[in-house]
Amino acid sequence: MEIKKVGVVGAGQMGNGIAHVFAAAGYDVLMHDISEDALDKAMGIIRKNLSRQVQREKLSEADMNAALEHIATTTTLSDLGPSDLIIEAATERESVKTAIFEDLLPHLKPDTILTSNTSSISITRLASRTDRPGKFMGFHFMNPVPVMQLVELIRGIATDRETYDVLLGVVEKLGKTAASAEDFPAFIVNRILMPMINEAVYTLYEGVGSVESIDQSMKLGANHPMGPLELADFIGLDTCLAIMNVLHDGLADTKYRPCPLLTKYVEAGWLGRKTERGFYDYRGETPVPTR
Ligand code: NAD
Repeated sequence: MEIKKVGVVGAGQMGNGIAHVFAAAGYDVLMHDISEDALDKAMGIIRKNLSRQVQREKLSEADMNAALEHIATTTTLSDLGPSDLIIEAATERESVKTAIFEDLLPHLKPDTILTSNTSSISITRLASRTDRPGKFMGFHFMNPVPVMQLVELIRGIATDRETYDVLLGVVEKLGKTAASAEDFPAFIVNRILMPMINEAVYTLYEGVGSVESIDQSMKLGANHPMGPLELADFIGLDTCLAIMNVLHDGLADTKYRPCPLLTKYVEAGWLGRKTERGFYDYRGETPVPTR
C-alpha cells in the first residue's frame, strides 16, 4: 500500500513537527485542530523551523517552499476522509483520542491506516474501539520532531504485519530510525524517561536540591544535554503527569506515583514552555526558576 495523503489530528507541538517532516519528505499533509488559533500558530512554527533549516543549509529554499505547498489546514475533521494514513497527535487523554477516531471513521477509506502518537496510552485498547484494529498502530515521534531521529513503532495485539511494514517504509522515507516496542504502558522511551523526570520533581519537592542544582547536576554529572526539569517543561507538565498516571494505573506499582508537586504545577496551569511557566518562568529574556 502506498501512502501519499497524510491526515494529522492535533496541531500542538507534536502535530506541527509531524506535519513539517512529512511535508518535507513529499507527503501531502492535511493538519486538523479544533482550534483555528492552534492551526495558525502551528503554521507559523513550521515556517520558522523550515527557515532555520534553510539558514543552516540543511534544506534549500526551493525545498522549503515545496514543503509549505504540501501542507494545508482544516478545523473540519471529515476533510481528512481521503487520507491514506492518519496520525492522531491531540491532547494526551484517552477520551479525546477515542472520540477523534469515532468521529473520523465514517469518513475514511476502508484501508486507511490509523496511528496515534500517544506517549503512553494502550494501543490495543485504542485500536479495539475502531473498526480496524489490524490497521492501527502506535507511531511515537520524539520532540522536537524535525530534530529527533527516533520513531517508536508500537504494535497492538491485533496489528497486522502489513501495517507494521508500511509504517517502517514511511519512517525510512522520513530519513528517521524506527525502534519497535511492545504495547505496555509508556512503551520504551517514556517508561524509562518519565520516572526519572518524576524523581527529579520529588528531589525538588523534598528539598534535596533547587531547580537549578537538580538540572545542573544531571547536565554536568550525567552528561544529559538538558536537565530533567528543563526537559519536563519542554515536554509539557500535563503530558508528563498524564504519562505517570498511565504508568501508575497500568502497572499498579507505587514506584510510579506522580509527585504531588508535579500535580500542583498542572493544577496551576503552569504546564512548562507552552504556557510560559513551569519549573522555569519563560516570560523574560532568560528562563528563571519558579522555586
Ligand atoms: P499540545 O498540548 O501541544 O497539543 C495538543 C493539540 O491537540 C492542541 O493544539 C489542541 O487544540 C489539540 N486538540 C485537543 N483536542 C482535540 C480534538 N478533539 N481534535 C483535534 N485536536 C485537538 O500536546 P503535544 O505535546 O503536541 O502532544 C500531543 C500528543 O503527542 C500527546 O498524545 C502526547 O502524549 C504525544 N507526545 C508528546 C511529546 C512531547 O514531548 N510533548 C512527545 C511525544 C509524543
